[in-house]
Amino acid sequence: MSFPMTPAEARVDLSAIRENLALLGGHVPGAEMMVAVKADAYGHGLVPTARACLEGGATRLGTAYVREALALREAGVTAPILAWIIPPGEPLEQAVERDVELSAGSPRLVDEIAGAAARAGVTARVHLKVEAGAGRGGATLDDWSAVIDRALARQAEGTVEITGLWSHFACADIPGHPSIALQLAAFDEALAVAEKAGAGGSHVIRHIANSAATLTLPQARYDMVRPGIAVFGLSPVPELGDFGLRPAMTLVARIALVKRVPKGSGVSYGHLYVTDRESTLGLVPLGYADGILRHATNRAEVLAAGRRRRIAGRVCMDQFVIDVGDDPLAEGDEVILFGDGSRGEPTLQEWADSLGTITHEIVTRIGSRVPRVYR
Ligand SMILES: *Cc1c(COP(=O)(O)O)cnc(C)c1O
Repeated sequence: MSFPMTPAEARVDLSAIRENLALLGGHVPGAEMMVAVKADAYGHGLVPTARACLEGGATRLGTAYVREALALREAGVTAPILAWIIPPGEPLEQAVERDVELSAGSPRLVDEIAGAAARAGVTARVHLKVEAGAGRGGATLDDWSAVIDRALARQAEGTVEITGLWSHFACADIPGHPSIALQLAAFDEALAVAEKAGAGGSHVIRHIANSAATLTLPQARYDMVRPGIAVFGLSPVPELGDFGLRPAMTLVARIALVKRVPKGSGVSYGHLYVTDRESTLGLVPLGYADGILRHATNRAEVLAAGRRRRIAGRVCMDQFVIDVGDDPLAEGDEVILFGDGSRGEPTLQEWADSLGTITHEIVTRIGSRVPRVYR
């Protein structure tokens, strides 16, 4: 039995990431794959994960912020990277110097990017974003022509090159949702407008599909897909099952303290759990500061001493307690919070279901105190 060197660790199986990418690629033959590695690659660790994705068949990476893209460049990653949330004041000059592609959905941002490129003495590569019904980032169809025209003017001047046209789904994870067809039609219309204006050459990459669309909407493939959650082995549409994906992360902790207590013992803050007989309690050194949602109190399960155990009482900042009854438990024993389920442990999907959230939220919140260990 091998013990982690730390109270807890998140084990990331990079081969699962590569396998999941191969599976995704099978759904979209001929399309490029850009993996969304924002938020520290969904908590799996930015750089090792990004490298595994590129080994596994992704040709590009996507980040929310410029600083995430620059961190990849600092680590020596040379693949194309697109950053898509650009609030005012971002280090755009550094981004274009380091060959980070930028998303723009307004004439103002096109100009700012062009200005940064002019100062840096380079041409900025830009993916123009249309809001085809997601109600979030990107230009509305009304503003789209203005964005295209401004980008074409900057392209003529040499500061900008239009390399992508893109959008994002609101409801691809809700099979049959009426907005899906409407968004596809709006995206096609936006592509036609761009084409007509002269912004649609064959080198321009068109993309709209997240994980859910990659797996369920072949008509949304275009030139490239942008999966995130599925790459990590987590289902983008849980009601349709796991699609054969394999969860990459296993979260484990080492029991810090074991003690025998009498019947009627109140456990943790608020005494929200009280032992109903003489029992053995184990202290698990992970808490809400590590991303174990406080809402998991008396709710989520872990695998300990050979069986599932519900968290006993309040999840605290750094710890929670489990009650193993009369089963043998020793300090240093490993507890599995979630994994791929192969040892009987809960999956992240089960955690998400029991907490009323999505796996994205739990996995991106695993804190910085928890080392990521790669296999
Ligand atoms: C996060 C994100 C994705 C990936 O979404 P998943 O649902 O995790 O596949 C794709 N595109 C954009 C713009 C995103 O922000």
